[in-house]
Amino acid sequence: MLVVMKKGAIAAEIEAVVSGIEQKGYIARPIPGGERVAICVLHNDGPVDASSFLQLPAVKETIPVTRPYKLVSRESQAWDTIIDVGGVRVGNGRLTIMAGPCAIESEIQALTIAQMVKRAGTQIFRGGAFKPRTSPYAFQGLGVEGLKILAKVRLETGMPVVTEAIDHEVYELVEQYADIVQIGARNMQNFSLLRRAGKSRKPVLLKRGLAATIEEWLMAAEYVMDGGNDKVILCERGVRTFAHHSRNTLDLSAIPVVRQESHLPVIVDPSHAAGFRDQVIPLSRAAVAVGCHGLMVEVHHDPETALSDGPQSLYPAQFAELCRQIESIFKASRARPKRMIDTSSGSLPRYAKRIAEGCPQERFTK
Ligand code: PEP
Ligand code: MN
Repeated sequence: MLVVMKKGAIAAEIEAVVSGIEQKGYIARPIPGGERVAICVLHNDGPVDASSFLQLPAVKETIPVTRPYKLVSRESQAWDTIIDVGGVRVGNGRLTIMAGPCAIESEIQALTIAQMVKRAGTQIFRGGAFKPRTSPYAFQGLGVEGLKILAKVRLETGMPVVTEAIDHEVYELVEQYADIVQIGARNMQNFSLLRRAGKSRKPVLLKRGLAATIEEWLMAAEYVMDGGNDKVILCERGVRTFAHHSRNTLDLSAIPVVRQESHLPVIVDPSHAAGFRDQVIPLSRAAVAVGCHGLMVEVHHDPETALSDGPQSLYPAQFAELCRQIESIFKASRARPKRMIDTSSGSLPRYAKRIAEGCPQERFTK
């Protein structure tokens, strides 16, 4: 349930609601809005009796939150979350491009690729230092040395960096170096790792699990937010199906659904979905058209010698061409036909304007 305060409610009035919620044994989480604060009631087993809150001063109304993912849901926050990553604002209505190699292999490799992808328009550099590999005999990443190289890339190029924390053991180390900590597909339901991410102040890139439903994915994000970290970026990277023409099946239908269900930014990783570079460009174009907030693409200056995921890594020239192509797709897909929004009732909520920028507009029609 959400307890919505009146405009101009003072701190003591908000505190009275918070302690009222806590007295009932629940957890209260204030969500500041542009005009008024709402307080989300968490950890309640059943329905919450609203009547005692409605009597408190400055309480405007109570709204039931019907979704199991409370903090992640649009029901508790109508406007889009924007996450600041070292000056790059993810989810702000622009397209965020993250790119780089699958794994950091050496300083020269990382810096060469970083300069190339930056020139093409990348804002955030990606590269694994700790790699989750199917085979224990495959390259496992450079570990701490890889993190130090990422720090050097940031220093030399000015780009924030995203890299994966594969377990609890390395989380603290990774968050010291990374601007975004990635939780990989195989760890999406590693609940103790999600709780660890919740304690972190660093933004989290939460990949969708190999066979996760959207609800399971959003519940994983709820773990992080419930732990106290609001900075979650979702990443669709394909799910496992019967298909073998690609590594996974990119579920683009998830993007409009997630945007409708949640206020969190959602990006697409076409590389791990496709597994083959020829599919990466068309899938990226489609992902942008369908409304994602950004892309994460694997690029290598010499994919034939890459220590991991060479076949799905774009050549720098292909990547530069992709960046050019998606710019116009992005502009065209965000130019929304205004006539589809029916404001005739005169009561279109103010926040609807902002959501409507990327969300299915049918939500706001009568
Ligand atoms: C990655 O991005 O480096 C990665 C391993 O991806 P995923 O967890 O989606 O397989
Ligand atoms: Mn990879």
